Amino acid sequence: MDKSAVLQRKDSTGLFSRVHALFSILEKLPQQISEEELEGLFKVLPADSANSMRSLLKPAIQQASMPFLQMLSAALNDTATAKEQGKKVVLAPFNFPPEIIHAFDNLAPITTEVLTTLGVVSLEGQGERYWEYAMGLGLPDHLCSANTIDLGSMLSGIDFEPDAIISGCVGSCDVNSKTHEFVSLLLALPQIALEKPPDNTERGFKFFKNNYLKMIRQLEELAGEGLKLENLRAVAEKVNRCTELYHDLWELKKQVPCPVPGIFSLFVCATRFSMWGRDEGIKTLEACMEVSRQNLESADYGSREERARVLWIYLSYYYDLVKFYDWMEERRISNMGDALQWAFPEPLDLTSRETILDGMIRSAWNNVMTRQMGAASMSQRWIEDIVYIIREWGVNGTIYCGHHSCKQTWSVFSITRNEVLKRTGVPTLGLQGDSWIRSMTPMSVIQEEVEQFVNNVINKSGRRRRPKIKDTV
Ligand code: SF4
Repeated sequence: MDKSAVLQRKDSTGLFSRVHALFSILEKLPQQISEEELEGLFKVLPADSANSMRSLLKPAIQQASMPFLQMLSAALNDTATAKEQGKKVVLAPFNFPPEIIHAFDNLAPITTEVLTTLGVVSLEGQGERYWEYAMGLGLPDHLCSANTIDLGSMLSGIDFEPDAIISGCVGSCDVNSKTHEFVSLLLALPQIALEKPPDNTERGFKFFKNNYLKMIRQLEELAGEGLKLENLRAVAEKVNRCTELYHDLWELKKQVPCPVPGIFSLFVCATRFSMWGRDEGIKTLEACMEVSRQNLESADYGSREERARVLWIYLSYYYDLVKFYDWMEERRISNMGDALQWAFPEPLDLTSRETILDGMIRSAWNNVMTRQMGAASMSQRWIEDIVYIIREWGVNGTIYCGHHSCKQTWSVFSITRNEVLKRTGVPTLGLQGDSWIRSMTPMSVIQEEVEQFVNNVINKSGRRRRPKIKDTV
């Protein structure tokens, strides 16, 4: 493909341009919007966008959703204005922690799966046209929609292009890393690979650390600047505040009924994937804490029945927030979120450049998906994490959403389900579907399956099943 021809064909119908245009309006909304004003807003938005905003802007969580939308808008603005500010845009998958990019003056990070999810959540027609474009190119339909939707838009030649791509899934997801590689080859974009070996010993970590340090040198070359200690420290301090808030929210989830609204798991992972180490990220997490604390202290909220505490053991569904998060809340099923929040971040040691970098490298090594699917044994690491979280939060039912492209989780699903049941007594529901494509399995079918699972399995004796105390790990 001739790159100059691609650049000439750019217009406003690409996923990024459309999402950015919508968020440029949303960021101007006042911090508090009355129900009457909301109804007015929903009338002027396209139906799919209005549906998501109905869930995101509902009064009970508005205090957190406004900073969340503003955070996402800031991330999109950074990308949109990068060129005029003399910055380069670095695209990376969700398992790559963005804080190292935030430490460069001349770089701006943007995350493929965050863009896909924003497209699916906020655009009329969701991400369908970009997925279909990718399929029209002859790409196989077992690719992961999480990245293919946004990358399909990029391949169509009508969307923004980054200046470089970090392929952060080498060693943890072949589908993801190959899709990013394909785009970088086709659009002639530099690709920086960060490989994680399936060797979780210190030897494996040393190999990963060398790859990460090599990546920093490549980023320095791209940015035309060295990584400055003062920038690194400033970002690291904010990373530590984000980490603190992440653990505070984690602790609150132990309460019954769970005071942390289910949709906040989406807020937490979007923050982790895009604005970890930025003021906007801190504001979002602080607001999530504030709403959750208010719920905890509210007698009305505290008297709610909790029929089940359900954990999504890998992904969940992101194409209908009302019929997913809000429906579960109405049915008094606490949605404890999915594996995209299992980053287990640790505070960074701010003593020196070396200690800060060492902590950031360990965060990347231990980040979501890399930690589980890039482990020496996928099933073992995944099972251990699920068992740990079931016990931490008192979960009494888990669900595997069956994201259709995710061959690696599918390949160990049976053993995972059996082992989780054996070690904790907690059952797992296996579903089929695509987390980002609504036409694969209608949400009404998913609702029905979840309802049956809660009624007939979790609550079959009329009482919630508690996890067994005995640890057989
Ligand atoms: S969801 Fe599965 S297929 Fe998609 S990027 Fe993650 S591990 Fe890969």
